[in-house]
Amino acid sequence: MRGFFFNLRICLLLPNLKEVQKQINRGVELVAVSKTKPLEALEEAYAAGQRVFGENRIQEMAEKWEVLPKDIEWHMIGHVQDNKIKYMAGFVSMVHGMDKEKRLKSLNKEAAKHNRTIDCLIQIHIAQEESKFGFDYHEARQLFTSDLEQRFPNLRVRGLMGMATFTQNKDQVRAEFKGLKNFFDELKSQKYPVEHFDTLSMGMSGDFKIAQEEGSTMVRVGSSIFGARA
Ligand SMILES: *Cc1c(COP(=O)(O)O)cnc(C)c1O
Repeated sequence: MRGFFFNLRICLLLPNLKEVQKQINRGVELVAVSKTKPLEALEEAYAAGQRVFGENRIQEMAEKWEVLPKDIEWHMIGHVQDNKIKYMAGFVSMVHGMDKEKRLKSLNKEAAKHNRTIDCLIQIHIAQEESKFGFDYHEARQLFTSDLEQRFPNLRVRGLMGMATFTQNKDQVRAEFKGLKNFFDELKSQKYPVEHFDTLSMGMSGDFKIAQEEGSTMVRVGSSIFGARA
């Protein structure tokens, strides 16, 4: 009986996931944002082949990691609290929200304790909203000329992450993504020309199509797959 209902639920979620997957360009990674969603929802997406999941609270992610299949790649996409990093340092695949030097230090330290090199993204504040975290372009330029490898040997800075302003104004969203892509290209060609600097995480349910048109290589999509959050 459980199998029957489980399969029924897969039938409900699958169309959303497939519909989103169809709209993802070749070469763009889909992070399925499962924050606040129950284990069953993640299991359904997993059964449908999804392996990369994004969460925004470290403890919730750790609880899900404990019980779900170990070939899932866990991305921390939310604001990172330094004192919680220890709960994810042993397993997290990528941390998107590196928004302060202090945060890089903390993540590097915890990664070292686990003998790991953790992939991370530098979050850039591109929105016209005070509430979003991140370096501004000027601070980030300084960061990328400060010998990252030597200062943070247990981190691998894979690229940039940004969130556009929450607005209906598509031109503004596009301009913010365009600016981030230009900055990414500038770093890659001048200040940080390393092979592994290859990831531009931008785009959510409402704007991932625009983000892809502007050069995103990784989109973080939640509600379009799992439904609205409470
Ligand atoms: C919640 C969240 C998402 C996904 O948002 P949706 O609109 O549900 O797709 C993407 N990125 C970050 C940083 C988030 O916190």
